[in-house]
Amino acid sequence: MDEITMVPTRKCKRCGRLLFSKEALEKGYGCQCAKHIRQEELERQPLDDQMSLMDFFKTESEE
Ligand SMILES: [Zn+2]
Repeated sequence: MDEITMVPTRKCKRCGRLLFSKEALEKGYGCQCAKHIRQEELERQPLDDQMSLMDFFKTESEE
């Protein structure tokens, strides 16, 4: 019958490419996109530190 409905989505959530490896299927991203996402998360962390630092200075000057 309709085989397609039985198969879960096997496309990368980022670029829409078909996923084949078990790891990629678990993550929902291809290995290239998983790398990109990891890098983007790493690049985002310093920004969070800067923002928390700004908050720290804000509260400092208010007192
Ligand atoms: Zn992808």
